[in-house]
Amino acid sequence: MLWLGFSLFAVAVVFIFSAVQGVMLYRQYKTRTVSDLRAAGNYVMQELVSDGEWKEERLNYVFYDVLHRYSVNVFLLKEDGTCRYPYISVDFNEEVSVIQEKLRESGGISIVYQQEADVYSYASSLVRKGEVYYVYATRSPQSVGMFFGEIQGRSLTVSILAIVLAFVVSGFISMLLTKSLTEVTQKAKGLASGDYDQRFYDGYHFTEINELSETLDFAREEISKADNMQKELIANVSHDFKTPLTMIKAYASMIQEISGEDPQKRKAHTQVIIDESDRLTALVNDILDISKIRSGVDELKKGVFNLSEYLFGVVAKFDYLAETKGYRLETEIDDELYTLADKEKIGQVLYNLIGNAVNYTGDDKRVTVRLKRSGRVSRLEVVDTGKGIADEELAGIWDRYYRSSETHKRPVKGTGLGLSIVKTVLDRHKFRFGVLSQVGKGSCFWVEFPLPKDDFEVN
Ligand code: ADP
Repeated sequence: MLWLGFSLFAVAVVFIFSAVQGVMLYRQYKTRTVSDLRAAGNYVMQELVSDGEWKEERLNYVFYDVLHRYSVNVFLLKEDGTCRYPYISVDFNEEVSVIQEKLRESGGISIVYQQEADVYSYASSLVRKGEVYYVYATRSPQSVGMFFGEIQGRSLTVSILAIVLAFVVSGFISMLLTKSLTEVTQKAKGLASGDYDQRFYDGYHFTEINELSETLDFAREEISKADNMQKELIANVSHDFKTPLTMIKAYASMIQEISGEDPQKRKAHTQVIIDESDRLTALVNDILDISKIRSGVDELKKGVFNLSEYLFGVVAKFDYLAETKGYRLETEIDDELYTLADKEKIGQVLYNLIGNAVNYTGDDKRVTVRLKRSGRVSRLEVVDTGKGIADEELAGIWDRYYRSSETHKRPVKGTGLGLSIVKTVLDRHKFRFGVLSQVGKGSCFWVEFPLPKDDFEVN
């Protein structure tokens, strides 16, 4: 198809070109002929009038000269239709009557007129010794035909050459293009059927195809990552479901067979079942939250609210840890800082960050929650004194269903999805956030909440 298209295009271009060339040549020929005829005729007229002798020698010279200069045949005709010069016995009766008529129509002494389709003529009259003569000039149709024929013959050769060349070159280009595209398509089909080892980029001759293959390579990597992540997620989730389910089943059997009659034991065992069910519920809720926020099903319900006040409220939820387990939650929160966001989802972010800080803080059990205005944003910092996060783990903690390999005793229950939720929510809000961490010293998780515009309404 491509080849055919290219070739047809070449033929069309050559065709249009020749047509335009023909028209232009014809026009040029016409103006040129008219001006040559006029110049030649006037020249002869001037010579004949200026020297009335009309000596043989002189006439020879003038008529030869005019033919040489303008490629125009000039005749000196008498009124009766015979030719005065050159001496030829051709009958010009017809020409003479046309000349007389044309001159009468125009009312002048000289005229250029179209005799036939491609033939133009010049005529003028003069009187010598009481006799009327006509200078008659014409460009012979044969010479015109030859002129056009030669040009047409030449442009035909050029056209055929051009078409053949276009045919070959476009065939070559189409072949290369089709070959590369077929190759890329073949590989894409492989990718579609789950073969992630395809390498698309192969130094093709076309920049666009190279770009396409680079994009496909990128897509391949992303798909393969997503695929791995999904497999990992399913493995992790099923693992996390299995433990509580095993516990629930074990304790239910115990109640059935052993502790059913003993109220004290029964209470302890049913409590385990309740706790494990809670864990399962929390896990299911977190997974649902993430998938809802990510898929965009859950619209952000944005409003302006008092972030300082809200943050105090969230910190207060951890008071029981201070009272019962000796944690110290220090707050440095500026008053009256507002932001525009989805309050409930920001609540999840705050809760998860503070919960993590409590879980991972050091032996001094100290956590600092800071909220300070800095320019157009309020900057939240949740600081702990724990063991910090190693550089190679930093990237992983947000993105995946990630949990550092060792088991860790946590005062706040976690499902391993907390930071995933934080990232997903903040990404949807387009808020800047991050973590600064030093191994052995602790971590500082930060978020920048933009201040709302001045004319806001408080929710
Ligand atoms: P969870 O805490 O339930 O395991 P998260 O998604 O909240 O899940 O955190 C993911 C991982 O990031 C944690 O398992 C832990 O390794 C690391 N992490 C999170 N917060 C901190 C912190 N404040 N200090 C050290 N490590 C942290």
